[in-house]
Amino acid sequence: MIINVALDGPSGAGKSTIAKALARRLGYVYVDTGAMYRAIGLYVTRAGVPTDSKEEVVPLLENITVELEYVDGVQRVLLNGEDVSDQIRTPEISMAASNVSAIPEVRTFLLELQRSIARKNSIIMDGRDIGTVILPNADVKVFMTASPEERAKRRYEELIAKGQDVNYDDILRDINQRDYNDSHRAAAPLKKADDAYELDTTGMSIDEVVDSIEKLIDKRLRADFKVIPAWRRFTYGIIRFIASIPFYLIFNIKYEGTENIPKTGSVILAGNHQTWFDPILIAIKVKYISSYMAKAELFKFPPLGLLIRMVHGFPTRRSSNDVSSLTRAEEFIRKGYNLTIFPEGTRSKDGKIGRAKSGVALVASRCGVPVYPVGISFKRKLHFRSTITVRFGEPLSPEELKISSMSKTDLRAAGERIMSRIAELVHNG
Ligand code: C5P
Repeated sequence: MIINVALDGPSGAGKSTIAKALARRLGYVYVDTGAMYRAIGLYVTRAGVPTDSKEEVVPLLENITVELEYVDGVQRVLLNGEDVSDQIRTPEISMAASNVSAIPEVRTFLLELQRSIARKNSIIMDGRDIGTVILPNADVKVFMTASPEERAKRRYEELIAKGQDVNYDDILRDINQRDYNDSHRAAAPLKKADDAYELDTTGMSIDEVVDSIEKLIDKRLRADFKVIPAWRRFTYGIIRFIASIPFYLIFNIKYEGTENIPKTGSVILAGNHQTWFDPILIAIKVKYISSYMAKAELFKFPPLGLLIRMVHGFPTRRSSNDVSSLTRAEEFIRKGYNLTIFPEGTRSKDGKIGRAKSGVALVASRCGVPVYPVGISFKRKLHFRSTITVRFGEPLSPEELKISSMSKTDLRAAGERIMSRIAELVHNG
């Protein structure tokens, strides 16, 4: 299930800071639409054309391509292939962006790009018209505000911290001017969507704002979750509870990184694999219902097969590229279930981390959902009261996995990224 979150509001309300933090927490892709307008503003400024002249700006559009790319966890903006992420952050380009954004042709030019990113990935998109025009069916819409003085203060501090020589009064004047431009233009003016949640962030800390939006997303996902029949959720909960008891009694299980445990459905949990009860160790802490990819051999013994099916396990043939099991995985994710998977495909005998099969990257990119790495570690030779550490890591968004094509090379690289994140969780202490 792809989740689209629309985050709108006036300039300097802190949307991009919040959207970045939220995207990181949830493993969603962050889409900064303001940066796209800024890139166009920069192009037009460089061309020496007045940014508010529709007649002169529109013909330039055919020479422009704007792309967002993810490099080492940071979003970069490419204008005709050139990384302009830093050049677009000046007061001059802010005003140029505000001017070009009032031109309807410029908005149409960016509309399809913005929609196509949202179709393919779970995203947090920030802008002015996301909830009203770009994604009118977004799953969660938030309209963030703050007083002009507070916004000017935040931007002033941000620019000073970057070493820019700026003046508070100029910034406040700029903000008031851009507010006026954005809300009075004819094309897609800044306006709260009727079904958007209004959040006044004056006096709130970043964490407080992120928490409150995360709660809204949670609530929405919980509502979707109800689509999964109650009896399934109930049986899953009971089996998980009963299965956990012997493990708590036999071993000393320690959970770490619990703040990274996904609170929602439709994500992939990927762990290293050493024992047959690894899925149970993960399931104990993840309340949200999951499906499991399990080797086909287990289903040959009917009572075991039945039990695995009751917790939404489905068979995969390890020797071949099992397309039908990947399709099943996708079906479960689209219905709101998580997918717990062990990318190596087989248990490691010596505790070493092996290579990932292509399935995990394939499903993540086809469904546009994040992958949550899980590292399970213990000393060799388990015995009564052995300590087992299960460590949850920050999610990897489909964009961080960088799967632009479904080519073998891309999938292999994405698999390696996932395994190296798992390895960090296994070996860190
Ligand atoms: O958000 P940011 O300040 O980077 O946006 C730059 C300018 O681009 C804004 O002042 C606004 O006029 C315009 N914009 C827009 N619609 C969006 C995003 C930004 O009109 N969705």
